[in-house]
Formats: sequence, C-alpha cells, structure tokens
Amino acid sequence: MPETSFDVLICGGGMTGAGLASILAQQGLKIAVFEATQPSKFDLSQAFDLRISALSPQTQSVLERTRAWQNLLAMRACAYRHMRVWEMQGFGDLTFHAGQVQASELGHIVENRVTQLALWQALEEIPEVTLFCPQKPVTTYRKDNLMHLLTDTGEMFTGKLLVAADGGQSMVREQFGIGVNRSQYQQACLVASVNTELGQQDITWQRFTATGPQAFLPLPGQHGSVVWYHQADEVRRLHQLSNVQLGAAIMQHFPQQLGTIEVLEKGYFNLQKQHAQSYVQDGLALIGDAAHMINPLAGQGVNLGFQDIACLDAVIAKARAAGKDWWRADVLFEYQRRRRWANRLMMQTMDAFYHGFSNEHQGLKWLRNGTLALARLSPIRRNVIRYAMGMQASSSVVELIRKL
Ligand SMILES: Cc1cc2nc3c(=O)[nH]c(=O)nc-3n(C[C@H](O)[C@H](O)[C@H](O)COP(=O)(O)OP(=O)(O)OC[C@H]3O[C@@H](n4cnc5c(N)ncnc54)[C@H](O)[C@@H]3O)c2cc1C
Repeated sequence: MPETSFDVLICGGGMTGAGLASILAQQGLKIAVFEATQPSKFDLSQAFDLRISALSPQTQSVLERTRAWQNLLAMRACAYRHMRVWEMQGFGDLTFHAGQVQASELGHIVENRVTQLALWQALEEIPEVTLFCPQKPVTTYRKDNLMHLLTDTGEMFTGKLLVAADGGQSMVREQFGIGVNRSQYQQACLVASVNTELGQQDITWQRFTATGPQAFLPLPGQHGSVVWYHQADEVRRLHQLSNVQLGAAIMQHFPQQLGTIEVLEKGYFNLQKQHAQSYVQDGLALIGDAAHMINPLAGQGVNLGFQDIACLDAVIAKARAAGKDWWRADVLFEYQRRRRWANRLMMQTMDAFYHGFSNEHQGLKWLRNGTLALARLSPIRRNVIRYAMGMQASSSVVELIRKL
C-alpha cells in the first residue's frame, strides 16, 4: 500500500491538536492533522455554543504565536477583568482584579468551536501543515522505527512522531496500551446558555454552596453561561425542566446579580478525572484530554493542554538543536516529567476544592472561610491570582492550595 510520509502525525484536530500543529510547524516540521468531525462554520448571528472555556493569558500567548488569537477575536470572545469567589454561608469572600497582577485582563471566555476554527484558519496559511477532515484514523502502530496511521478511507500515513490529541476517549492511547487512572465524581454539572437582564460587568464568579458550586461566565453582550454543580440525579432533574422552569430555578437559587434570566439552551456533563499512566513512548506523545481530564471547577482543562503544547514544542526544539532523535522516548521523557507533575498538581488542587467546599462540616467551613479571608492578603492574593490565571505561583502558595 502506498504511504504518505510526514514528520508528525496528529490524531485529533480539536483545540489542542490544531494548536500543536500551528506551533510545531514553526520549527519547519511537516505535519498531518486528522480530524473525524467537521466543525460548523462560524456566523455572528448564531446562538452561543454550550461548550465554552475560560482561556488563560498563558493560553492566549500560545495562540498569539500564530494568527489564531486575532482570528479568534475577529469572531467573538469576552474578556473578564474581575473574578469573585465566595462561600454562601460564611465570611469568606474574595474578589480579584487584573490590575492586582498588572494584567489588562484575567482571561477570555471563548466558545470551544471558535478557538478551534481560529486555529484552523491559521493552519490554512501554514504550508507545512495538511489538515485531513473528515478523516478518521482507525489503526495506529509502530513498525521499522516509524509510526503508521491507517485511516477509515484506507490511506496509510507514516511519521517519526504520532501525537494523540483525540480527547478523553483517545483511541491512540488505547491502541498503544497506555492505561489511565480514572474516577467519577458524585456531582455533575448543568450548563445553561442564558440571556441576562443586567450587564455582566466583566466579572466571572463562583459561589460555593454545601451542594456544589454555582458559577457564571460572561459572554459578549447580555449573554452568559450558568454552571450549576449538584448531585448527578439533581442535575439530571434540572436538565429535564423546560427552559422557562430552569430560568426560574436559577433565579431562585443563584445570586441576584443578573436580573431576569432567560435560558436559551442547556446540557449536562458527568464529572470525572482521568490521568494517563504515561504520556510518551518511542515515537508517541499524548497531549490535552488524551493525557488528562480534570474537574472543570476552575476552568483549567484546555489551559493545561496548551501548556502541554508549549512544553512539547520546547523539548523537541531543544533536542533538534542538539542533533538528537527528537521523537525518541528518552527525549520525550522530559516532556512527561515536566507536564505530568504540573497536571497532577492541578488535579489535586481541584480535588481539594471539590471535597473541601461541598459540605457542611463545621471545621472545614471555618478553614475554607479562613483560607478565603487569608487569600485577601496581598502577597498571597497575587500568587493565588497568578495560579488561577495558569501562571507560575510561588511554591509556598501552591502548597497552601494543596492543603486546603
Ligand atoms: C463542562 C465543562 C466545562 C469546561 N470548561 C473549561 C474552561 O473553562 N477552561 C478550560 O481550560 N477547560 C474547560 N473544560 C475542559 C475542556 O473542554 C477540555 O480540556 C478540552 O476540550 C480538551 O481539548 P482537546 O483538544 O484535548 O480534546 P477534545 O476537545 O476532546 O478534542 C478531541 C478532538 O479529536 C477528535 N477525535 C477524536 N477521536 C478521533 C479519531 N479517532 N480520529 C480523528 N479525530 C478524532 C474529536 O472530534 C475532537 O475534535 C471544560 C470541560 C467541561 C466538560
């Protein structure tokens, strides 16, 4: 069977797969991206998608390395400059603003499809990258020191490096026999796309209650996304309400900041965390959700994926500069060593929030209120903001967060 050869084969053209292609191509590598599903075209008159993400300034700086960031802003995104976190019953109440860390914003809320399309538009101008879509790899394996990828249309491709960017259910990860540590949370989350009577005031907020957090993410204009964490049964019940009934339930149970709420669309997600037992093999690397899935509580999932991209790019560039076989496991281990630790730390932090905040335990209540109050002190606050923005915080603050 004739084969087409590339330097890098990427399975999955979502946010992380397309992101990696756009960055690695700057090293002059020849790259093929395979995506099974064609995303629908963007049109400003479309309703907002349910799947949105808070992109950190670090993710922004990765996207700014290509035209993707300006493409994204030309579609739609909502910058937020404030973030408020508070406990429903208690004195813990913390508001951050971008000025406290000399930043112009804390992040942007963007529809996942918009980020993906912005990257795809950038790829169109990069001759080193070929995007195959719709095209689904069905078999991947290593033979004669090369990675092989067979698609559902019967075409065979080879490359030095195969990257799994095919999400939490990664077929590539499974075909290379990499196991995962996985656990399901008891809570699920309901996500509703809403119109709000009052303006958003460029703030994203999260209120902790005994049954789970309630959050609001702003979108352009008087739009936003309401996220309601609760026991999985209750989330399913809420999801079955009509949009009008759900709007009334949100107004009854959520803070009153937004005035009348009109629900436009709703969905729910079961929550799980999952971590691949290894990120690399000879000729293979896992990135994004294929490597790790975390509780979306603090909106860090794809931001970690973009940090994987920056790290893998740097590791490959360093090896190439030293004339090494950059696709070999002994080189790629540096990527695994740096990213697996950082991703696990973020998972543990999310677990601390999940278990520490969603209960009525009196001692924990004092501890978390005290922690939120302590975090108002400016050196700690600066570090907590930096961590929430996906940036490096001082190790003592990281330890404090872990011990919450
Ligand atoms: C409710 C919720 C809220 C979230 N909020 C945030 C947030 O605010 N901030 C944040 O950073 N993260 C957030 N996340 C996490 C974020 O959505 C994920 O981390 C992100 O989508 C992962 O991107 P990915 O490209 O790695 O994987 P995916 O988005 O899963 O993309 C994988 C791609 O691979 C394709 N694919 C799969 N299998 C194949 C195959 N065999 N062949 C070809 N293509 C294939 C798929 O079609 C898809 O396009 C949230 C998650 C949830 C559930």
